[in-house]
This record gives sequence, C-alpha cells and structure tokens, in this order.
Amino acid sequence: MHGILLRKSGNRLSGIVRVAVPIRHMSLFDYKCNSLAEVPVGSRVIIPFDKQSRVGIVVEHAQESHLPKEKIRAIQSVLDDEPAISTNLLRTVRWTSEYYQQPIGEILWSALPQAIRYGRPMQPKFEMGYRLSDLGLNINPVEFSHARVQRAIVELLKASKDIVGKDQLKMAGSSWRSALRQLIAKHWVLAEPLVHHGHRCEMNLIQDLTFAQIAALDRILSSLNHYQSFLIQGVTGSGKTEVYLQAICKVLESGGQALMLVPEIGLTPQLEQRVRHALGIPVSSYHSGLTDAQRHRTWWLARSGQAQVVIGTRSAVFLPFKALAMIVIDEEHDTSFKQQERARYHARAVSIYRAAIGNFPILCGTATPSLETVHAARSGRVETLELPQRATNVEMPAVKLIDLSRSAAYNGIAVTMLNEINNRIERGEQSLIFINRRGYAPVIICYDCKWVAKCNNCDANLIFHASDNRLHCHHCLIRAEFVQKCPNCKSHHVELLQQGTQRVEQTLQNRLPGARIMRIDRDTTHSYAEFEHKFKRIQKGEVDVLVGTQMLSKGHHFPNVTLVGVLNVDQGFYSIDFRAMEQMVQQVLQVAGRAGRVEKPGDVFIQTSHPESKFFDCIRNHDYLAFAALELKNREEAKQPPYSNYALLRANSMQHGEEIVFLKKAHRSALSLLGGDAYQGVEVFDIVQSPIQKISNRYRAQLLTTGENSVVLRQFLGDWMAKLDKLPKKGKLRWSLDVDPVDFS
Ligand code: ADP
Ligand code: ZN
Ligand code: ZN
Repeated sequence: MHGILLRKSGNRLSGIVRVAVPIRHMSLFDYKCNSLAEVPVGSRVIIPFDKQSRVGIVVEHAQESHLPKEKIRAIQSVLDDEPAISTNLLRTVRWTSEYYQQPIGEILWSALPQAIRYGRPMQPKFEMGYRLSDLGLNINPVEFSHARVQRAIVELLKASKDIVGKDQLKMAGSSWRSALRQLIAKHWVLAEPLVHHGHRCEMNLIQDLTFAQIAALDRILSSLNHYQSFLIQGVTGSGKTEVYLQAICKVLESGGQALMLVPEIGLTPQLEQRVRHALGIPVSSYHSGLTDAQRHRTWWLARSGQAQVVIGTRSAVFLPFKALAMIVIDEEHDTSFKQQERARYHARAVSIYRAAIGNFPILCGTATPSLETVHAARSGRVETLELPQRATNVEMPAVKLIDLSRSAAYNGIAVTMLNEINNRIERGEQSLIFINRRGYAPVIICYDCKWVAKCNNCDANLIFHASDNRLHCHHCLIRAEFVQKCPNCKSHHVELLQQGTQRVEQTLQNRLPGARIMRIDRDTTHSYAEFEHKFKRIQKGEVDVLVGTQMLSKGHHFPNVTLVGVLNVDQGFYSIDFRAMEQMVQQVLQVAGRAGRVEKPGDVFIQTSHPESKFFDCIRNHDYLAFAALELKNREEAKQPPYSNYALLRANSMQHGEEIVFLKKAHRSALSLLGGDAYQGVEVFDIVQSPIQKISNRYRAQLLTTGENSVVLRQFLGDWMAKLDKLPKKGKLRWSLDVDPVDFS
C-alpha cells in the first residue's frame, strides 16, 4: 500500500484522531499521531485494527481520549496529500449518521468507489493526452530539420486546439513514441490526463419557454447562491426537465457544479444524451450499472471540479463535489431514493441538508409529490412552482372506472376493458395495461382441503411462473416444482388464483387473437439497454398492447398509447402500509400521464371494487393535490408521518424467538429512558411480528417508536442506540434501526 510515512517524532502538536471504519458500530476509533497538521480531518489513513491494517477516514481531531494511554495505537500512514472528503461533505455525512442513527463509516463507505475504499490513489488512471507548452508553441520548425517525426507531432498538436490522444499521434510515424518522449524531455510538449472524452459543443436550450416555465426559472435564478427548496410540480411532458437544464446552465456559467438525482430505473442513457445535447458538455454518471473504474472516474472528476454535471442514483448525493451549487431530484416521490439496507438514509433529506449548508437551491420535480413534500410546501419550507400544462399542449386523458362487482371478467380482466382494447387495436392505436405484480398467479390453492402453496423458507405464498412452469418465491428466490396435485390431500382440485403480468399477457392473447403483446417487468426486462430496445419497438408501432409493472410508470412517454388499463389498484385499500394508498395513486397518475398526445389524449380505465372511494374522484380530475389533502387529513388524525416521526427497530434471527427476546430487552431499555420527561412526545409501541414473519429462514419482528418532534426523537434514539450497542450480541441475531421507514414488510 502506498502512503506517506509519518515522522517518528515531531515538534508540532501531537494528538488524537478519531477514525471511522465501515462496521456496524456507532463509535469512532481513537488513534494517536505525531502531528495533527499532517492528518487533517477527511484524510484516509492506514490504521492497525484488530490484527490487521485497514483503511479508515479521519473524522475528528482531539487532544485526549477516553481510552487509557497504553491502549491507544498510532496510525501507520496517511494516504493522501489532501483530505479525500471535504469539510462540507463530512458535515453532511455526520448529519446523516446522527439523523438516521447509522454508523458514519458505513455511510462514508457506501458512497466510495472500491479503489478509494481499498486505499488506492484518489486519482484514477486516465489515458494521457498531449499539448504544446508555451515553449513548444514558439518553436521554430527549422529546429526539427533532422527530426521528421518530432516535427510531424508538433504540427499535429499545433493544428489541434484541444489536447490530443495517442490514437492521433500514431499518425506522425512509426517512431512516434520515442519522438514524443524527446519532446516531453525538452519541455516542448506537456502530458496531461485526457479527462473527458467528447468535446464541448453548442448549447441547445429552448428559446421560447412557456409563461409557467419562465416564472419557475425566474424564481430559481433569484435563489442561486442561497438555500431554497423548490417543488416543481408538473405532469410528464410539462417541461420540468427543460427548467432544470436552463437553471443548471446558469449554475455552470458561474463556475458551479450540478447534481441530478434520478430514481433507480429512471436512469436512462436518454437523459444523459439530452443533458449533453442541451448543455453542450460531457456528462458524468454514477450508479450501480457502471463498473467500479467508471464510478471512480466520476468520483474523481466531481472532486476535482471537472465534472460539471453528474447524473446519478441516490448514493451520488455523497460525491465529493468541489463546488456543488445545485441539486435536482427528478421524480422526488420515488421510494428508491430511500436506501433500504445497511446505511439507511433518504437521498432527498440528505440533499436538503447538503444544499442548506452549501447555500444553494434544490429542485424537486414530479407530477405526484410525496406527502412529506406537499406538507413541507404547505408549511412554507418548500416553494411550489407549478407547470400546469404540458409544454406541447396535450390534454389529460379521461379517467373511467369499471366496477368489478358488476361486470363480467376473464381471469380478472373486465369485458369492457377487453372491448376497449380491441377498439384501439382496430384503430391502429396502442394500449398499456398496468398491473403491479409479476409472475402468472400469486395464489395456488387446493379447493378440497384449502392447502396453499407456501415457501418453506419464508412466510409467503409461492408464485406460479408460466415461463418455466415452476413456483417462485419472490423473497428468497428459490424455485420449486409445480405438480397439479395437492401434497396435503392428494386431490387434483388445485387451482391458480388471481393474476400477475404473465397471466394477463396470456389472457389478452387468448381473448384478442392476433394482437401483438409485449410484457415489460423484471422477468423480461433486465437492463436499461433492454428497456430502451423495447421502447424503440413500441415507438415504431410494432406492439399493440403493453403489459407491465411500475417499470412502465417511470422514465418514458408513450405518445401512441390511447388506452391505459389499471388492474389491481384495490390492494392499496387493504395494505397495512400507511403509504400504500399514496403509492397507488402516484403510480396510477404517473402511468396515466405517460400516455397520449395532442390529437389523441386517450382514456384511462381503472378496475375496482370500490368505485365509491373519494380517491377516485381525485384521480378522475387529475387532481393530485386534492388527493394529498384528503390523505394528509387521514394521516393527521392517525398521527402518522408527516405529522409524526417514525423509527422502526427490526430484529431477525434463525433461532425462532431470539428476535423477540432482543426486542423485549430493547423495549425495556426504551421504557426506562422514557421514565423521566426528557423526551417529550416520544412513544414506544408493542413488539409485533413483521408482516412477513419469516424470510430466508430468519424470523422477523419489529418495534415502532414515534416522536412528535424529530429533534427530540433523535436525541432519544441516540441514547437508546448507545444502550442497545452494549447489549450482548447473540451470534444469530441481527438488528437494525430504520428512521423514517418507507417499507414496513
Ligand atoms: P418533463 O420533464 O416535465 O417531462 P420535458 O422538459 O421533458 O418535460 O418536456 C417535454 C417535451 O416538451 C420535450 O420534448 C421538450 O423538449 C419539450 N418542451 C419543453 N419545453 C418546451 C417549450 N417551452 N416549448 C416547446 N417544447 C418544449
Ligand atoms: Zn388438498
Ligand atoms: Zn422464500
């Protein structure tokens, strides 16, 4: 491992550094060093840890440690000349750690490319490029009369205004390498990393913005250089992206960098291309679909300031930007901004903090804002900028309900729906059928003894998949044989109930022979590239009916779709998750908003057994805010977020019962803390089994705590976690705290 060895002794101030490492432990680790000045906060260091050496990041300086002197070991080396993590980023990470009660080390590491985690140099290897030095520019070509290749290289470099890569230099002659070496030795040519492929080009921003776009942009531009949080509310096609781009353009002009966060699936090459084309600059990206080398490049370019615009998924919020001056969060309501495992944080909340301490604006865009954001807008913490119409003047589709209790249906698809789809096919138009469940049938039941096919490892039904004729568990991913004979009573009266995307596809194919049907779900569409490929076929009109999951509600606009059919909305009414209704309405409006164009706005048909629900009036009127108002009232009455703050302690164990034993201890220690009146408004609920009681043979239970005031709740959680950290750890038990949970399964 490389590194700068520390002097054995020094006359500068020696002291203690507190170091973060990526383990599930809230505390930092104390080490001594000879000179604090050589180990600034944010530096990567090599430390002895247990019996190994490992990479850590210095988070604090201190004069003293709680540890006895002889126990404190010295750091072995400092890896970088400058801190890898800037002060503001470290502040953001510390805030995240405190707010979500997650170890600093885990948060820091979750956003570092591997090369940085492993202690390799911060600067990745770039291909080298070459240009003339001032000396080289003024050289008289006569000097090269005997060096033909050197002369060719100099002429080549002179002709090019930009830095030149090896590919082009090869053209100077076969001995170009030695000629180049000599030119560099004479300081006539400079070697530099070829950082960005692709050149600057013309900007292509739209000149005639709509009034609403102009008004929105004006408000944003008047807030550059100080913190302000904006909600840009507008349907797909209302021109939000154009507003982001024009705002980013101004940020770049004043030398700042911009970060654009997108949901996991929304990250399409299309968006990158659009940004590059609009702003005329290279764009860097950061998400899990890239190689580590690519992520390392983006990390470095963000840090050195060369990446002016980065598009990324949630962890990009922790990139070490040199001069970040704007964050845009597209589709801000999307739950993929919450990281669900290890370091649990919400990228929107972290972005808001980062913008606040960095003094710059943050733009959240969506047609269907999260109720948290709507609430924040009502209270004035967020300024709403509305883009009420589509920039291209498309009408919103008409929404019609199909009452399932009164209409005939084939395998869950109403006859009315089938007839309407058929009409579209006859007119040469496309239909999109949305059902939020994969597979063929989610319930396999024996009518004689009521046996239901369940996973052995999980407390969940097995789902029949027609693609391989097997039963799948969507939790532990095992697959089992499907025999049409009940294992319990040997009856052959085994039936498949309800439907997933595969069965819908098959039913449509049976009822509409000749129709060209395409399915889009995680089983058929694994990558962005595949999604793009399918999207192109849809655009070309090679498809009549599209069947898919929420994948269809993100990222794309389908101009030739004039019918959107929504099949299983009713699950929103029965779910125990208090956000189920919000998510259902968001998905329906999102998918409805992605269809149609000027001449053909289209229709949305929703099948339901609850046509009387007020929620459907809001959907019919495309009035998301009316829905939000209704639902916020329910939340307020039930004291649910955003009117209260939730933190969920989860435990699971292979040893049935151990999870409850742990939670009981946790419950007792919470009650003892809550005995006084230090934590006003904090409540602890009873221990309950998780909705899915077992996953992969681990038994699961949870304990909810709530607080009226998030600051008080956080203080409580901090003190509580310190106690839980000290509880003896049984080998098979795992536990975690989830602050502001979005998934209760
Ligand atoms: P959103 O991000 O809200 O989906 P976009 O910014 O992508 O909306 O705009 C939708 C389409 O309308 C794009 O093709 C865009 O180029 C175009 N568009 C946006 N603003 C205008 C405008 N002022 N005039 C004409 N076309 C526009
Ligand atoms: Zn049976
Ligand atoms: Zn399973």
